Amino acid sequence: MNMDSVAVEVYLGLGSNLGNPIANLKSACTAISQIDGVQLLALSPFYSSKPVGPQDQPDYVNAAIRLSTHLSAQQLLEQLQAIENQHGRIRTVRWGARTLDLDILLYGDSQVHDSQLTIPHIEMSKRSFVLYPLADIAPAGLMIPGLGTTLAALVAACPAEGLEKIPL
Ligand code: ATP
Ligand code: MG
Ligand code: MG
Repeated sequence: MNMDSVAVEVYLGLGSNLGNPIANLKSACTAISQIDGVQLLALSPFYSSKPVGPQDQPDYVNAAIRLSTHLSAQQLLEQLQAIENQHGRIRTVRWGARTLDLDILLYGDSQVHDSQLTIPHIEMSKRSFVLYPLADIAPAGLMIPGLGTTLAALVAACPAEGLEKIPL
């Protein structure tokens, strides 16, 4: 638990490009909603995106989640990694294909820099597949801790190239 056990608002980025990515993200969403001490608040639309890193892998499906939790960021990471593993994630090359990736984008207005966690997620301001789904479920004026800028400003500076909303 975080010290005072006040619920913290958290945003997650979800990605998958192996198996059935849409089914993987839906199933991950269900699993996240079932974590003790987590309340799911919103799920974004799904987007398809081109891979980061090695290009010889399928396109990704991405989404974002807003939740509130009494877990610490570290406890939440442990739960998310367990869900990645349950979805058959095997870690091989960096940025390689995966059945499921669950990243903590924002944890309230905290900044975390330790061996396990960097929050805000270090690459989020450069990634359209993170920012666009996030902007669907977060207030435009949301401040990004440590950057002194809003989500809307990051979105405006990040071309949506290669990103497409998947129709329901
Ligand atoms: P990227 O971080 O570029 O999106 P990735 O998501 O593919 O890459 P993973 O293999 O999923 O990277 O995770 C590698 C390690 O990143 C994890 O073991 C975890 O400790 C660490 N990590 C650091 N910051 C975060 C964060 N904000 N959310 C999730 N994992 C993080
Ligand atoms: Mg990632
Ligand atoms: Mg990850």
